[in-house]
Amino acid sequence: MSDATQFNFETIAIHGEVRQDTKKGGEPVVYPRVDSTIFRMSEDQEATPVYTRHANPNRSQLESILATLEQGETCAAFSSGMAASTAILQALNPGDHLLIPNDLYHGVRKLAVEIMASWNLEVSSVDMTKIEEVEKALRPNTKMVWAETPSNPMLEITDIKKVADLCKKHNLLLTVDNTWPSPVNMQPLKWGADLVMHSTSKYIGGHSDLLGGAVIAKSGQGIFEKIRDIQQSTGAVPSPGDCWLMLRSIRTLPWRMRGHNENAGKVAEFLTGHPRISEVYYPGLPDHPDHTTAKKQMAGFGGMISFLVTGSREETNRVFLASGLICPATSLGGVESLWEHRIRSEGPGSKTPDNLIRLSVGLEHSGDIISDIDQALYTVFQ
Ligand code: PLP
Repeated sequence: MSDATQFNFETIAIHGEVRQDTKKGGEPVVYPRVDSTIFRMSEDQEATPVYTRHANPNRSQLESILATLEQGETCAAFSSGMAASTAILQALNPGDHLLIPNDLYHGVRKLAVEIMASWNLEVSSVDMTKIEEVEKALRPNTKMVWAETPSNPMLEITDIKKVADLCKKHNLLLTVDNTWPSPVNMQPLKWGADLVMHSTSKYIGGHSDLLGGAVIAKSGQGIFEKIRDIQQSTGAVPSPGDCWLMLRSIRTLPWRMRGHNENAGKVAEFLTGHPRISEVYYPGLPDHPDHTTAKKQMAGFGGMISFLVTGSREETNRVFLASGLICPATSLGGVESLWEHRIRSEGPGSKTPDNLIRLSVGLEHSGDIISDIDQALYTVFQ
C-alpha cells in the first residue's frame, strides 16, 4: 500500500502498517516480530534501525499507524501511558506552568503535581468545561494546557476547539489525553490540539493483556523533537513483541469501539431508569450537561460510564463485589466488562464521591451486562 491515507479508517486499521505492494510469492502476510536488538551497519551512515531502544521495525509500524489514525504527522510509542505522559512533561522546562483539569486520571495528576515537583514544574487545575475559567487560570509562564475528555472518572467534556483556539491566542501547547475515546470516536488534532496522548493499554490494546503508551503530534518539529529524544534516550519503549500485539489489536479497533459505543448506550439508558441509581455520567445521554459538545467532537460516546448508587460507601462497595459477569477490577477498554468502586483505587485525597462506580462496558451481550448490574443491586438492596 503506497498511501494509507487514501483509505477509510477501518481499512487503514487493517492494512495501514503492512506494505502490500510486493507481489513476491512466499512473503508473510503478517509482518513478523523483529526481536533482534541490534541491526547491521553499512557504509550508509544514515541507515536505520541501529539499536532497538532508538527504533525497531515493529515499533516504527505501530508509530506510523497511530499517527495515521490520529491524523498526526508523527508518533512516539512508549512502554505505558504514564511513560508517554512523563516524556511530554519532561519536554517542558523547569519553571513552566502546566494547566490541568480538576477532574482527570489520578495518575497523571500525581505525576504533574508530585513527581514533577522536583523538576520545578508549576501546576494548577481548573474546571476545563468553562472556557472563561481556563483563560483566567493562565499565567505568564503557562506553556501547556492538558485536557482529558471525557474526564476520568466524572466524564466531564472539554470543548477541544475552544481550548485549542485559546491556546493559539496565547501561544500555548494543547495536549489531549485521548485514551477513553480512542481515535475511532475522537481525533483531537483535527480540533486544534498539538499533541495527543494515549494509554494504549486500554481500548487500543483492547484485551487487558498489554501495557503501552503513545504521543502523536500534529508536527514533528518543536516539542515533539524533545519528546522523541526523551523516548530514545531514556528508553521507556515497548518491546517488539508488545508492538506486534498492539498492531494486531488495532486491526479490530474500529469494530470493537462500535460495540463498546452501542453496549454503553444501552447500559446508560438502563442505569438512568434504575431506582437505586441517583446519577449517571455518560456524555451520550441527552441530559449530560455537555452532551452538545460531546456530539460535536465525538463520533461515538465510548464505553465508559460512572454512576452513583443511592447508598453508603459500604453499600456501594458491596454492590461492586456482588457482580458475577462484570469483573471487579481496575483499568478499562478491554473486551470484558469491568467495574470499580473508584474511591478504593484513587486512595486518600480522592475527591471522587464515595458512592461512585466506574464501569468499563465490554463486548459481551448488552442484556447479560444489564442483568448482572441489576442482580448486584438487588443482592444489596432487596
Ligand atoms: N490516561 C488515562 C485516561 C488512563 O485511564 C490511564 C490509566 O488508567 C492512563 C492515562 C495511564 O496509562 P497506563 O496505565 O498505560 O500507564
